[in-house]
Amino acid sequence: MAKSDDEYGRRSFFREAFTRLVQPVAEYVDTQVEAYLPVSPSEKALLRPPGALPEETFLNTCLRSGHCVDSCPANAIQILQRTDPHLANTPYIDPDHQPCVVCDSLECMQVCPSGALQKLTADEIQIGLAEVSYDTCLRSREIDCRYCIDACPMGEKAIRLDSQRRVEVLPSGCVGCGVCQHRCPTAPKSIIVRPLVVN
Ligand code: SF4
Ligand code: SF4
Repeated sequence: MAKSDDEYGRRSFFREAFTRLVQPVAEYVDTQVEAYLPVSPSEKALLRPPGALPEETFLNTCLRSGHCVDSCPANAIQILQRTDPHLANTPYIDPDHQPCVVCDSLECMQVCPSGALQKLTADEIQIGLAEVSYDTCLRSREIDCRYCIDACPMGEKAIRLDSQRRVEVLPSGCVGCGVCQHRCPTAPKSIIVRPLVVN
């Protein structure tokens, strides 16, 4: 049986009302999803394993053997998947995934066959430097968060509260391991390790 004009009118009214209701929600969800999508290594500045030579020398020295990847007890070192042969299969660390834990043996440096990872002491490591975003840090909202400070393997010589009770990173002590970034509960992270030399 043919549907009446009235029935079509009612259906079309409800369809339009539903679309008007749902569309702003869908747009909001889209923007939120985009804001929190994990950033792929291709969009991030690369952090190399501890002891790495400066980036260009590192790229020309590393044999892509993967020994550092296999030896890391924390599984912090990953292999970069890139089409650019200059970068492909090089080792890197993404603290969001798993930070360097500055393990006692620093095994990656010991097993590197090329010298691309130099044998340093823990204090000499400079993977990068942690940087605090005070706008998003929970302490700016009077929440007594100290995850980054409590988790840092280098202790108070690397990160502490300043006289205003804000998080302060000390460049002389921070080795750029990324444990603070990994532990920070905010999204996006309020403390991020930046490489010392931009790739
Ligand atoms: S401040 Fe962060 S990146 Fe620096 S040593 Fe401590 S945990 Fe590692
Ligand atoms: S863990 Fe993150 S939110 Fe908490 S104090 Fe450190 S930087 Fe701020």
